[in-house]
Amino acid sequence: MAPGTWANPGPQQPVLLSFYAFMAIITKTREQIELMRESAQVVSRTLGEVAKLIRPGITPLELDRVAETCIRDQGAVPGFLGYGGFPNTLCTSVNEQVVHGIPTNRPLQEGDIIAVDCGAIKNGYFGDHAFTFAVGEVSAQVQQLLKVTLECLYLGIAEIRTGNFTGDVGFAVQLHAERNGYGVVRELVGHGLGTSLHEDPELPNYGRRGKGTRLQEGMVLAIEPMINLGSRNVVTLNDGWTVATKDGRPSAHFEHDVAIIDGRPEILSTFRHVYDALGIEDPFQQSAHQPVS
Ligand code: MG
Ligand code: MG
Repeated sequence: MAPGTWANPGPQQPVLLSFYAFMAIITKTREQIELMRESAQVVSRTLGEVAKLIRPGITPLELDRVAETCIRDQGAVPGFLGYGGFPNTLCTSVNEQVVHGIPTNRPLQEGDIIAVDCGAIKNGYFGDHAFTFAVGEVSAQVQQLLKVTLECLYLGIAEIRTGNFTGDVGFAVQLHAERNGYGVVRELVGHGLGTSLHEDPELPNYGRRGKGTRLQEGMVLAIEPMINLGSRNVVTLNDGWTVATKDGRPSAHFEHDVAIIDGRPEILSTFRHVYDALGIEDPFQQSAHQPVS
C-alpha cells in the first residue's frame, strides 16, 4: 500500500489501482486525540526543518535525511519508511508529480515546486501531513495554484463537523478548485487516521453535499487536496510509486490532520514552523476552531 490512500473503486471512477481494505470507522477519545496531536506536531516540526533548507541546489534526498533525523530526535519513527515497501521518510513530489514521489539526487531548481509529505509514528499513533513549497521564485500561475490549493484545504476543513458528510467536505474543495479552472485528482483521497496510516472513512476531494459518510465526534481525518493546474488526470510512473499529472502540468498538495471535538474541526497539525522558517505570516492564522480566514 502506498503512503497515500488510493480511492476505493467506484462504479464511475477510472481507478488506477486499489489496495483498499474495508475497515470500520474508529473514533478517538480526548486522550487519544491528545496523543495524535503530538504525532501530528512531530511532523509539523519536521516540515519546519525541511522548510529551512528549501532552495535551488538542494536535493530531495538531503531533505529526506534531515527529516528522518528530526523525527527520530523527537522520539518518533518515520511513518512512511518501509510502509508497503516505500523506501524513504518523505514523499517528495516535484512540479508535475502529484504525490508519492521518491526522493532523488536531482537538485531542485529555481521555479520548481516540491510537495513534501511526511508521516511519523509516536505513542502508536500516526501523524501525516504535507506542504508544497516554492523553490525560489515561481511563476505567477504556479503561485496562484499553491494559494488556491491551500484555500481548498481550509475550506474543506471548515466542513469537517458533526452533522456533515464527507461529501460536504469534498464539495467545498472541488467547487473552489474548479471555479479557478483547476483539475481535482480523484484517484487519491484523504482518510481517517489513527494507529493505522489509513482508516475509514475515505475523504475524497470532490463530492456532493449530504452524500458519503456522516461525520462523527471523535473522528480524526487527514484532509489532503491534490489540485492540478491542468486536467485532473494522473498516471503512475515506472518506479511504481510516483503519481504525476498526465498532461505534465504542475500539481499542488497540502495536508492537515483534523479532529472533530465538540462537533467542530480542530487542526492537530500546524504550518507554524513552516511559516516561521520561511519568514512569512501564516495567511490563515490557524486558530483551533476557525480555520478559514
Ligand atoms: Mg494522508
Ligand atoms: Mg500524507
